[in-house]
Amino acid sequence: MALGLEFLDITSFRRLAFFLGTPAGELLKRAVEMAFYLLIVYMIFTEYRQRQRRDYKYLAAGFFALFARNAILSAILFTDVFGPSPFTRFSVALFFLDQTLETIALLSLVSAFLFPVFKERTMRFQGLVALWLVGLGLVHLGLYTLVRNGLVTLNLGEALVDSIQAGVLLLSFFVIRKGAYPNLKFARSVLVAFAVYLAGPLSNVISYLVIGHVDLRLRVLEHPLPFISLFLLLRAVYLNMVDKAGLYSKLKESEETIAREKELSQMKDNFISIVSHELRTPITSMKLYLSLLREGRFGKLSIRQGKAMKTVYDESTRLSDLINDLLTIKKMESGKLELEMSTFDLPEIIDDLYVRIAKEKGLKVVKHANHCLVKGDKNRLKQVFINLMNNAIKFSSKGGKITISCGSSKAEWWLSVSDTGVGIPPADLPKIFDKFYQVEDALTRKNQGIGLGLAIVKQIVELHGGSVDVKSKLGKGSTFTAWIPKT
Ligand code: ADP
Repeated sequence: MALGLEFLDITSFRRLAFFLGTPAGELLKRAVEMAFYLLIVYMIFTEYRQRQRRDYKYLAAGFFALFARNAILSAILFTDVFGPSPFTRFSVALFFLDQTLETIALLSLVSAFLFPVFKERTMRFQGLVALWLVGLGLVHLGLYTLVRNGLVTLNLGEALVDSIQAGVLLLSFFVIRKGAYPNLKFARSVLVAFAVYLAGPLSNVISYLVIGHVDLRLRVLEHPLPFISLFLLLRAVYLNMVDKAGLYSKLKESEETIAREKELSQMKDNFISIVSHELRTPITSMKLYLSLLREGRFGKLSIRQGKAMKTVYDESTRLSDLINDLLTIKKMESGKLELEMSTFDLPEIIDDLYVRIAKEKGLKVVKHANHCLVKGDKNRLKQVFINLMNNAIKFSSKGGKITISCGSSKAEWWLSVSDTGVGIPPADLPKIFDKFYQVEDALTRKNQGIGLGLAIVKQIVELHGGSVDVKSKLGKGSTFTAWIPKT
């Protein structure tokens, strides 16, 4: 017994239990409880001021009710311990006042967990809670009157009050069982705390039912329960808030990342547009001199020189097409591109040059071009056809078939280019209209292009108030259709 734990012997425990049963011990218990509840109210209220969440409001109200109950009881016990008081520790009135306040406090707290069940019907919920509060107050008052007039024994009165409290606490279990509370983890830990609280009134009721009164030893054993429950509640609320704070800082972090990425993408866009502008002038003059060279204006070329010159010329045309694409998309995105509207026959946008190129690659081309007069920017719409056709040629191999069709219905007209080429994986379909998006890896791809063709198609069609869609099966082919409203 040299452990320094001698005070834990049975006599000390009895002495402590006896002390806690005296008015002074009761006052100590209430004062400590009161301080803790005040701390919880403060924590929840600070959180409520930051986030304005309704469940915090109800929780704060619930804990405040518990605080108020202990504050009132502490004040009464204080006068009992330190001076003359109209109440004594064992007076029936004090007992019922204490129990009424406790029931009301518990009901307020449980309401914090009930309100999500009522969702938007807040007014109805508040009315119901108010009705319950008044109802329970009246029931307690009625019980008090009955006990005072000797119509009901104090033992039965106590047991009835205990069963009301147990019922109120059990309400929250009903709610959690239905999974109505949004933050289940938090609600579960609060329920554990409620369960500990519930153990007191529940065992009192059982004791009454079995032996006709509440066993005194049971009362002694119940002393620590509200304390344990209190610690559990404090812990749950604290962890919930720390959790929220963690989430909040993560949210802030990702917001910052998005802002940084936006800025970076803006810088990239600006860089591309500046570089394209700067490249356009030298490319134009290079092409001019190349065509003069090819025509033999600076001296006759040998056959091999002519072939080499053609390759250089074709490549510079490709380069200037790319630069033009970049500038077009930039212009469209900044809203600076204006459509030059005219009325023309729809099949005029089908450029035969590309039909020829397809045939040269060994592809079969089928045309279903219905004549109809449409209104739009003919050159830009021709660009739509060219870009779709270019892709159909690029992504089909020899022996494949390309079907071009156009026509009109009452409200809109359409142009569609269908191929029997490689097709597009379903996961890529939503992204292929994005700028620079390509299904194949840029480093391993065989086809030319930088992923702007479809982005341009989409922009032009949308400028006409229309939309573009794609249907594709991997290995079977793809169909792109542009729909444009007539008005
Ligand atoms: P680019 O053709 O310059 O790469 P696009 O914007 O025209 O850019 O097309 C984006 C991507 O969509 C292509 O890289 C390709 O992966 C896919 N794609 C477009 N059209 C077809 C098609 N007809 N068949 C298969 N894949 C296609």
